[in-house]
Amino acid sequence: MTIDFELSPKIKGTQKMLRMFAENAVRPQARKYDEEEHEKPWDLLKMVHGFMKGGVGGSLGGGEKKEEGGEKKRSERQLTTAVVVEEIFWGDAGIALAFPGQGLGGAAVQATGTPEQKEQFLARFSGEEPVWGAMAITEPEAGSDTANLRTTAVKDGNEWVLNGEKIFVTAGKSALEDSKGFVVVWATVDPKAGRAGIKPFIVEAGAPGMQITKIEDKMGIRCSDTVSLSFMDCRIPETNILGSAEVVDPKTAGTKGFKGVMATFDATRPMVAAMAIGVGRAALDLLKQTMAEEGLEVRYGICPNRMTALERDIMDMEANLKAARLLTWRAVWMLDNGDRNSLEASMAKAKAGLVVTQVTQKCVELMGPLGYSRKLLLEKWMRDAKINDIFEGTGQIQMLITARNVLGFGRDKLK
Ligand SMILES: Cc1cc2nc3c(=O)[nH]c(=O)nc-3n(C[C@H](O)[C@H](O)[C@H](O)COP(=O)(O)OP(=O)(O)OC[C@H]3O[C@@H](n4cnc5c(N)ncnc54)[C@H](O)[C@@H]3O)c2cc1C
Repeated sequence: MTIDFELSPKIKGTQKMLRMFAENAVRPQARKYDEEEHEKPWDLLKMVHGFMKGGVGGSLGGGEKKEEGGEKKRSERQLTTAVVVEEIFWGDAGIALAFPGQGLGGAAVQATGTPEQKEQFLARFSGEEPVWGAMAITEPEAGSDTANLRTTAVKDGNEWVLNGEKIFVTAGKSALEDSKGFVVVWATVDPKAGRAGIKPFIVEAGAPGMQITKIEDKMGIRCSDTVSLSFMDCRIPETNILGSAEVVDPKTAGTKGFKGVMATFDATRPMVAAMAIGVGRAALDLLKQTMAEEGLEVRYGICPNRMTALERDIMDMEANLKAARLLTWRAVWMLDNGDRNSLEASMAKAKAGLVVTQVTQKCVELMGPLGYSRKLLLEKWMRDAKINDIFEGTGQIQMLITARNVLGFGRDKLK
C-alpha cells in the first residue's frame, strides 16, 4: 500500500479552521491562563466541546481495519486528530491540555474496553456538557518502570476494592469534579503475577474512598491540572474492570491486561509528538516573523558556506520539525490502517520530544534578552516544551523501546 501524506481537502479545511481558532481565540489567552494556573477558560472549553460534538478533530484510539475487495480501506481519523492537535498546540499547549474530551482515560477505554464498555463510557464525551477522562498509572515507586506499581484491586462480592496512591494524573481534577468524568486506574489483581496481574479500572467521579491529595504547581502547561490521588478502600462496581479479570501470560494476552497500557500509548504517543511539533512551530514562526520585521530573510538554497549562522540554525530547526512531523504522520497513518505501530509511535515521540526542547531553547537564545523576557510567549513555550519529553514515557524510554524493536531484544535483554 502506498503512503501518501498529501492532506485531503477535508483535512486541509479542518486545519485552516483550527489555525484561525488557535490564532484568534487560543493564543491571545495564553499568558493569562499560564499566570492564573488551573483556572479554566470556560468560553473556549465550551466552544471546543461544541466542535468535538460536531465531529471536528477525530479522536484517540485505534483505527478500524476495514476490508473492501481485499484492500484495507483507509481511515483518516488519527491523521486528522494529529493535524488538529498540532494546530491547537501551536495556539497554546497549556490551554489545549485543559480542553475537555476523552484524554488518556478515553484512549485506555478504546484500547482495552469491551464493545459494551466503549459504548457506555465513551458516549459520555458527546453529551451536552464538557466531560474529562484521565488515566493514572504513575506511582511514587513506578514511573518508567510501570510494572512496579503497587496499587491493588481486590474483589469483594460484586465490587472491586482499590488501595494505593497515584501521582501526576493529567486532568485528574477536571475529570473528578465532573459528575460524568472518570479516571482509568491501573492496579494489580495479583501482586505475585507481575505484569500479568495489572488491570485497568474505571473509577468514576464521586467513588467513595478516592481523594485528590495534591494539585501540582508546575513549570509549564500550567493551565492543565495535574493531581495526586489516594485510594483507601475505594469501592467500584465489578463491571468497571476494563476487559477481563483473568490473569494471563503477557506474551499471549493481546490487548488484555498490561499489554493494554502499551496499546493505549500506541495511540497517544503520536499525539504527544504532534503537540510537541505545534509548540516548536510556534517558536520558530515567531523567530522568523521577528527576523522578517528586521529585514532578514532566510536564503533557502544558497551554498552552505555562504550561509549565516542564523540561517543555518533556522534551516536545521525546520528540517528537524519536518522530520518529526513525518514520523508522526507515519505512526498515525499505520493506526488509521489498523496496523500495529509501537515502534513508529515511540520513534515519533522520541524525535519530537527532543526537537521541541532544542527548538524552543534555540529560539529563546537567538532572540536575545527579548526571548527570555515575559513580554513574548517564547519563554513560556520553552517551559511548555519539556513535558513532551517526559509524559507518556520519557525520551530515554522511547529510545529503549525503539532499540528493542529494531534489534529484536526482549525487555529482559535490554533494560
Ligand atoms: C506534568 C505531568 C503530567 C503527567 N501526566 C500523567 C498522567 O496523566 N498519567 C500518568 O500515569 N502519569 C503521568 N505523568 C507521569 C509521567 O508519565 C512519568 O513522570 C514518566 O513516565 C517518568 O516516570 P518517573 O517520573 O517515575 O521517572 P523515572 O522513571 O524515575 O525516570 C527518571 C529518569 O530516569 C530515566 N530512566 C528511567 N528508566 C530508564 C532506563 N531503563 N533507561 C534509561 N533511562 C531511564 C528516565 O528517562 C528519566 O530521565 C505525568 C508527569 C508529568 C510531569
